[in-house]
Amino acid sequence: MVSPFPAPSQIQQPAAGATPSASPSATSSQGGVSGSVASPFGAQAQQAGLSIVVLDPAHGGTDPGARGTGGIRESEIVLDFVIQVRRALELQGFQVVQTRQGNENPSFDDRSATANAQRGAVFVSLHISSTGLPGTVRVYVNSDLPPVADSNGLIPWDRAQAPFLGLSKTFGDLVQGFLTQRFKGSPDAAQTASVRQLRTTAAPAIAVEISSVTVEDRADLDRMAPGVADAVARGAAAFKPSYVVANSPGALP
Ligand SMILES: [Zn+2]
Repeated sequence: MVSPFPAPSQIQQPAAGATPSASPSATSSQGGVSGSVASPFGAQAQQAGLSIVVLDPAHGGTDPGARGTGGIRESEIVLDFVIQVRRALELQGFQVVQTRQGNENPSFDDRSATANAQRGAVFVSLHISSTGLPGTVRVYVNSDLPPVADSNGLIPWDRAQAPFLGLSKTFGDLVQGFLTQRFKGSPDAAQTASVRQLRTTAAPAIAVEISSVTVEDRADLDRMAPGVADAVARGAAAFKPSYVVANSPGALP
C-alpha cells in the first residue's frame, strides 16, 4: 500500500526526523537529510543522462506493510520482486541502487536521501496493495505541489518532487503502458495521488502497486514478478530520451 500525505492540516508540520518547512528560513541546512535539496538541475545531472534506477522495496523491519489472510506480507514480497526488477534493469544497462537490501525499515527521508544523492537517476517504489483487482498493477505519481524555492533557488526538502512532476508523469505513463499490455484490467495511465515517499524525492519518481495481498496463494503474486520487472525495465529504457534536462539555468521542464 502507498502511504498518503498527512492530512492537509498537518502538511506544514515537519516529518519525523526532519525539519522541512515551506518557509525560506528553514532551507538553511540543519543537519542530516533535513533542510533543502540543491537545485535538481545542476550541471552534473544534465551531463549524466539517465543511468541509475533507485529501487525502493517499501516497508520492512517493524513495518510489514499490507498483510493478507494467508500470511502474505507486503514488505517481504516487494523484496523478492526487486531482485527480478533489478536484474531486468541491469540487462538494459542501468545501474541499480536499492533503498534497503534486507528486512530493514529506512525512514521515508532516508529513502529519499538515497535517491537524492544520485545524479541521472529515477526512483521506483514497489508496493503490494490490499485493494484492487488481483492480477493488475497501478502506477502512481505524486499529485501537484506548488514549487517553492527560496531566494537562493533552493527547494525545501518536502517540496523536492515539485520540479519533477511532469517527468514523473511521463515516466509513470510509460511504465503503466507496458504493465497494462501484460496485466489486463490495469489502468491506461499513471494515477495521481498524495504519496509521502515521492514528495521528498528529487528525481522522476513513481510508485508501482501490485494487486494484491488478498490472493490466497502467494504464487499468484510471484507469477507477476517477471512481467512487472520487464515493464519497469522497458519503461525506464523508453523514458531515457525524455530525461533531457536543459543545460541552461532557468529552463526547467
Ligand atoms: Zn505499501
